[in-house]
Amino acid sequence: MRRRTVIAAILAAALAATTAAPASAAPAGQRSSRAAEPIGRQAPAAQLLGRQALPANDGWAAEGAGTTGGGAATADRVRVVRTRAELVAALGGDNATNAADATPKIVYVAGPIDGFEGPDGTPLGCADLADPEYSLPAYLTAYDPAVWGRVDPSGPLEAARVRSVAAQTRQTQLNVGSNTTIVGLRGARLTGLTVMIDRVANVIVRNLELADARDCFPAWSPTDGDAGNWNSQYDQISVRRSEHVWVDHNTFTDGDNPDRAQPSYFGRPYQVHDGSLDVTHTASLVTASWNRFVGRDKLMLIGSSNTVGPDVDRLKVSVHHNLFDGDLQRLPRVRFGQVDVHENHYRLGGPGFEYALGVGVRSAIVAEHNFFTLADDVDPADLIRDWGGTALTERGSWVRQGDGRARPVDLLAAYNAAHDPDLGGDAGWTPTLRAAPPLPTPLVPLVVGAWAGAGRLPL
Ligand code: CA
Ligand code: CA
Repeated sequence: MRRRTVIAAILAAALAATTAAPASAAPAGQRSSRAAEPIGRQAPAAQLLGRQALPANDGWAAEGAGTTGGGAATADRVRVVRTRAELVAALGGDNATNAADATPKIVYVAGPIDGFEGPDGTPLGCADLADPEYSLPAYLTAYDPAVWGRVDPSGPLEAARVRSVAAQTRQTQLNVGSNTTIVGLRGARLTGLTVMIDRVANVIVRNLELADARDCFPAWSPTDGDAGNWNSQYDQISVRRSEHVWVDHNTFTDGDNPDRAQPSYFGRPYQVHDGSLDVTHTASLVTASWNRFVGRDKLMLIGSSNTVGPDVDRLKVSVHHNLFDGDLQRLPRVRFGQVDVHENHYRLGGPGFEYALGVGVRSAIVAEHNFFTLADDVDPADLIRDWGGTALTERGSWVRQGDGRARPVDLLAAYNAAHDPDLGGDAGWTPTLRAAPPLPTPLVPLVVGAWAGAGRLPL
């Protein structure tokens, strides 16, 4: 009975954390005009959600002025959207210039929206976006390593592929400006779309299912790895050269297009997906909280270059209370950044699993109170991978493997016992931006399972 009371108290605290009042409410004049807003027909809870700011101290996005998104939007910039065209219109009107629209705006997504919808709503296929001079069979014939060798594709066919990618980008990449909140109403889903947050500040993305941001024109990279790789262009959410971004209570999946359904070419899987939430190119001050990442391969890349340059002192990201369910790698993979990874639940194992925490060049990961539910084929010593880093702080991890009992495990000691060179145990900094004291790690799966992902916020 006492245990149930404790759990109930923790669940209540988690709910309170996810429904905290906005840190900066709109001025009274704006609030009084909200009855005329299109969202006025929605439940008051949805209106509150759209105005909500990131709670104080809730991760790196709370640094300094914090993250308010479109919370100050006036009535004319609050919209409910049901199609790709309405979504682009609500973000400013022209996808080519929307990134420069810094007017506060709240966009409520209602129901499913497909990025491959044409202007009149008819679905487009990859063939509709392909350059007339591109075809996959021709590409496979021209750049087969047995014929072309192991050098990067070039020439007219590769140029036609690049033009095809540009056409797809105009269609499926959604450019978001500063001071924007995108929030899903019940059943909201973005399929085949990339949310591009580039050269902006103060953006909130909540309560969306993001499915299958697929690339119609993957590139063959013959020198990526020992056998080459097919690489895709499109993340589900991409944060670049931006700061103050809060990504909360979303569900990321491959939809009905899992990687295992793709063919192999040149002996390598034809990869049409890239990251779920990549933070690169000097982006910083990002909080990723209460998300559910299901069945994805390359999940969260923080820093995309080993070059010691503008990424130094950037790439600061908090990753808390997320569920990583059946994902394969980069959970996250970090270069340079001070990255706080706490109270996440990892459910890992099975075909293709690589690692969880990627310790890259000059990375400073603090990983605390994470719970790992592992299939029998995953050695806890392999949850960490060294990508040229030197140290991470890791404590409070628990592991439950197969049918075994949950137990505390020192993941770094296990890693160092199995691998050389050893990684140090001090990432060199102590996180202070945390909204609540940590849960006991054994409770993390219960709380994250109940509250992480789209469709869990009260609406
Ligand atoms: Ca990427
Ligand atoms: Ca060792």
